[in-house]
Amino acid sequence: MEQSKPDYDVVIVGAGAAGIGMALTLQKIPGLNFIVLDSGRIGESFHRWPAQTRFITPSFHSNPFGLADLNSITAASSPAVFANAEHLSGAQYAAYLASLVSQHKVPVQTHCKVHHVSADKAQGFLLETANGQIHSRFLIWATGEFQFPDLTPFPGANYCPHYAQVSDWSDFRTGHYTVIGGYESGIDASVNLIKSGCDVRLLVRQTSWDSHNSDDPSICLSPYTRERLHQALLSERLDVCFDVDVTQVAANEDGQFRITARDGRHWQTTQAPILATGFINGGGARQIAELWAWSDEGDLLVSEADESTRTPGLFLVGPQLRQEERIYCFIYKFRQRFAALGTSLAQCLQLDARALQGDNMPWGPFGNNECCGDCEC
Ligand SMILES: Cc1cc2nc3c(=O)[nH]c(=O)nc-3n(C[C@H](O)[C@H](O)[C@H](O)COP(=O)(O)OP(=O)(O)OC[C@H]3O[C@@H](n4cnc5c(N)ncnc54)[C@H](O)[C@@H]3O)c2cc1C
Repeated sequence: MEQSKPDYDVVIVGAGAAGIGMALTLQKIPGLNFIVLDSGRIGESFHRWPAQTRFITPSFHSNPFGLADLNSITAASSPAVFANAEHLSGAQYAAYLASLVSQHKVPVQTHCKVHHVSADKAQGFLLETANGQIHSRFLIWATGEFQFPDLTPFPGANYCPHYAQVSDWSDFRTGHYTVIGGYESGIDASVNLIKSGCDVRLLVRQTSWDSHNSDDPSICLSPYTRERLHQALLSERLDVCFDVDVTQVAANEDGQFRITARDGRHWQTTQAPILATGFINGGGARQIAELWAWSDEGDLLVSEADESTRTPGLFLVGPQLRQEERIYCFIYKFRQRFAALGTSLAQCLQLDARALQGDNMPWGPFGNNECCGDCEC
């Protein structure tokens, strides 16, 4: 990398909830020079959600009492107020993000994919983008998971549409469908197919709605989805098969599909099964896999400060973040990290981070990890 003055102190890659939320946090630091880049539009992943998909976490304007709306990315804004809705669609949430960008004049370059990143200890980061090279001192990676579905969970998965490739469930012809995967997206697919007049067989490894170990919605089904599952079961159009570990889907000569499970059970279907089997481990961080450390199980490893343990100056925000037992896969979780990351970047750049102090308190608008680990206060 040639010796040159960086174009920016910080580049954020990804203009989703994580990237825009982080940008609005950095904007409170006077003198910090940053930009957000996105390969698509602001909120591109939300634009791509199936038309019928709604937020499972409810939105409510609780901000004036110190509890920011569960889905907000600033202390003052509320998706509930913005959209007049409790469970927003993807399009509504993308519009909420775009309105914050415009209101706060956040510098964002859309349609600017980052193709390659090289890192240099002394110089920072050189990004090869659709709009040319960009040189930054620090890099925040906020590329999410949604655009990185796992399309090969077992042989024959290539015959099956993945949940993240569906734009509208009403495009599916009335008939009988098989959905593989029993967590949020599997139930969402089943519920919406049933609403479109289809019958559904849902193949699940284990129930995510009878979790005895945790009430954490990162692990077990949210109340919103439980309610919808209950209604779907009452319709008698949903057949749930348990303990099914699908090992293969094969296309038969007669145009049908044969699904095989590890215990030898199998099913014959006319329609290609639908994959609701999740996203690649690490999501969009796999695009720069060599700049992160990974565990033997394939999990992304970061320091306590959310920094790559392999590449100093590279930080992660978003749903892939794990800190000990904590899984930050929802907006109300990963937004807790914005202020701490902003503060440490300001310190490195010798800038004034006092404006973030209040946000970084246990009872700040987004809270943080300092309180309520195990207590019952
Ligand atoms: C069906 C579904 C329902 C959900 N419901 C909820 C919910 O109710 N509540 C909740 O809190 N969470 C929910 N989540 C999770 C939530 O959507 C994610 O946690 C959140 O969107 C993550 O935000 P993000 O900004 O990290 O990722 P994204 O919103 O995916 O943003 C990443 C951005 O990075 C861009 N990008 C990727 N690669 C590059 C590149 N190389 N160069 C430039 N740009 C790039 C993408 O275009 C995208 O805009 C849900 C997820 C799904 C799939």
